[in-house]
Amino acid sequence: MAEIIAKLVKLYRETPKHWEGHIFGSMTTAPHPLAVYAYLLFIYTNYSDKEIFYTLKYFEEELFNSLNQYYGGVSGLLTSGGTESNFLALLASKKIFRDRENIVVAPDTVHVSIDKACNIMGCRVIKIETSNKPVDPYKVEEYIRRYKPFAVVITGGTTERGLIDPIKEVSDVAFDTNTYLHIDAAYGGLLIPHLYRHGYVEYDLRFYPGVSSISIDFHKNGLTPIPSSILLFSENNYRDQVCYETPYMLSRETCGLLGTRPGGALVATWAIWKYMGWKGFEELSLRMINLAYYLYKRLHEIPDLIIYEPILPIIPFKHKTIDTGKILEKLIKKKQYLYKAPSLKALRIVIMPHTKKNHIDKLIQTLKTILKTHKQ
Ligand SMILES: *Cc1c(COP(=O)(O)O)cnc(C)c1O
Repeated sequence: MAEIIAKLVKLYRETPKHWEGHIFGSMTTAPHPLAVYAYLLFIYTNYSDKEIFYTLKYFEEELFNSLNQYYGGVSGLLTSGGTESNFLALLASKKIFRDRENIVVAPDTVHVSIDKACNIMGCRVIKIETSNKPVDPYKVEEYIRRYKPFAVVITGGTTERGLIDPIKEVSDVAFDTNTYLHIDAAYGGLLIPHLYRHGYVEYDLRFYPGVSSISIDFHKNGLTPIPSSILLFSENNYRDQVCYETPYMLSRETCGLLGTRPGGALVATWAIWKYMGWKGFEELSLRMINLAYYLYKRLHEIPDLIIYEPILPIIPFKHKTIDTGKILEKLIKKKQYLYKAPSLKALRIVIMPHTKKNHIDKLIQTLKTILKTHKQ
């Protein structure tokens, strides 16, 4: 065993860690110690079995009651991520809106997990061209009338640009046309309501009358260990659609794509929600957007960059002449990990809960060095 542990420690040491300040692209963060503690304490529990592990019902009920007080839904489910949440939203809508075409309408900025879900479920995704702008609600209406989709998906914080689609306006369209509307707020769900109230973003996120479901990842900006995402519904009936009878178990029904699922993830999410509260996430959102503007300002010190102003704490940028892939390669050699924003042919930096000012200062320094030496 000592040998195995030695190996574990060795590889742990060389694995990049958020708190060391090199991770600028991944939408993951270091989980909060309280969430880790809660997770470990309940690590043996199965969230699909709420009869044996009956205390999970308490955590579930309290978590979703509290979340829905703010977002305005009526029920919910803890899932393994935005991907599973998106899948389940489409599954629920497909089962309810049987009289519609086997089509999902979404802006072309929608997350790839929607394509994945339709690939598995055998539906077709029809995309509205947006040129990387928030979708035009009139276009959504036009597409709904033309294609009669069983669901429309829009995004609260796109992965590449941090765009927010006009949630209220599209909700009005969904309401008027009696269409299922899912808001994929995997990335932006914990940020948007606060940044809206403080005047940073144009659109709010909540259950307007036309919204049927909202997904929010806690393992992105919510400080929980992976996997943790929530899916909120406007009606109990939608949740029922993604729950299946499991005759051999005491609890009889299991919900979602997974069978056995981590009870620890549910408890960790409850703990962090209890600890941070609405106020805690408000402060975190403001800290992150302010850091994003700080980074935005500092990037301007570097000549010949095209820098996109942050909407949410995501900043895409590119060089006027130097190839984005080349810059990325050089950054990786210096242990600075950024992601790409292919739709803009740019790189992108995401400010996550772990990001500190001195991480940004170091990144700027590295970028300056790389771009200077490249020219020679
Ligand atoms: C991250 C993300 C997803 C996928 O979520 P996972 O938790 O990685 O499964 C879906 N949609 C959006 C907008 C995202 O940012």
